[in-house]
Amino acid sequence: MTASFIPPRRTLMGPGPSDVPQRILDAMARPTIGHLDPAFVELMEQIKSMLRMAFRTENALTFPVSAPGSAGMEMCFVNLVEPGDKVIVCRNGVFGGRMLENVKRTGGVPVVVDDAWGAAVDPNKVREAFQSNPDAKVLAFVHAETSTGAQSDAATLAKITQDHGALTIMDCVTSLGGTPVLLDAWGIDAAYSGSQKCLSCTPGLSPVSFSERAIAKIQSRKTPVQSWFLDLNLVLGYWQSAGKRTYHHTAPVNPMYGLHESLVMLEEEGLENAWARHRAMHEKLKAGLEALGLRYVVDEAARLPQLNSIHVPEGVDEAAIRTKLLIEFNLEIGAGLGDMAGKIWRIGLMGYSAKQENVDYCLKALKACLP
Ligand SMILES: *Cc1c(COP(=O)(O)O)cnc(C)c1O
Repeated sequence: MTASFIPPRRTLMGPGPSDVPQRILDAMARPTIGHLDPAFVELMEQIKSMLRMAFRTENALTFPVSAPGSAGMEMCFVNLVEPGDKVIVCRNGVFGGRMLENVKRTGGVPVVVDDAWGAAVDPNKVREAFQSNPDAKVLAFVHAETSTGAQSDAATLAKITQDHGALTIMDCVTSLGGTPVLLDAWGIDAAYSGSQKCLSCTPGLSPVSFSERAIAKIQSRKTPVQSWFLDLNLVLGYWQSAGKRTYHHTAPVNPMYGLHESLVMLEEEGLENAWARHRAMHEKLKAGLEALGLRYVVDEAARLPQLNSIHVPEGVDEAAIRTKLLIEFNLEIGAGLGDMAGKIWRIGLMGYSAKQENVDYCLKALKACLP
């Protein structure tokens, strides 16, 4: 007979998932109720309201998609891009590349703005792309590129987009809860995030938010959204105002308890305090890493506090070190992706993982494992 699965106890300091506090795991172990139960409907209303707090938005259409961040990404593209629509896509890492893939699959016409991996998106290139493509309808960019650790200037990119009458799709999977995400102040039209990064919940939910302008675009589509599950017109019937809720799909009830608890914890701490904590822990980790002789990949100005990418020292077998960290220290850090595979490590300080204890532990373990 197969025995029950007992996971090892790890310290999660990779690119996500981050450590999940016991309080959130406890919340998820509470009794399952029906997804149309009035008590569940009340829980969803509270989640929507707390997500507006986290996204700094008044957008009515703010809710968690019942699937991981990649589904939130796909929901933005399949609803906002129609076949033939021109979309400017910024690519400075893995996730920008995935946005491009989404544009192609929705039948959109991509205009790619490339920047080096590890650099922020260059607003001047975006300005030029709009000048050469005045018919572009959407700008898509990644706010916090988890594959490299670079943060882009969302306020400036959104402003350029508005000046050209286009809509903005922003990936804030790794930024939400870790660094400022100000949807309304910046004027972002569609944003998606993930539950398992700076919100420190379990993976599998994707908070999204859509502006009135985005909804107007979706309602004026000439073609139906090709994905049934992600069609906002249908999902809306389920997530809209309490009372007249109808069946669309069975919401993952217990994970929603977890997301609710993580947002309650964020409310208790205060959003700005959470941003400050991520920054403070980053400063401490940085001092320790530099003392070990390790160098950052990203220039200081564009560096993400919650994702520290560092060069693997010359002649070091990076995979062997990660294995040693995992086996001997139960510590997970991330490897490089794509062009950066084998060349960098990515140390996450996301959500509950962004604490002094973890910083100290990670530095101690690295020191013991480095040759
Ligand atoms: C993690 C991540 C995603 C994908 O989220 P999943 O939950 O893994 O599907 C998308 N974009 C960025 C920037 C991410 O860091």
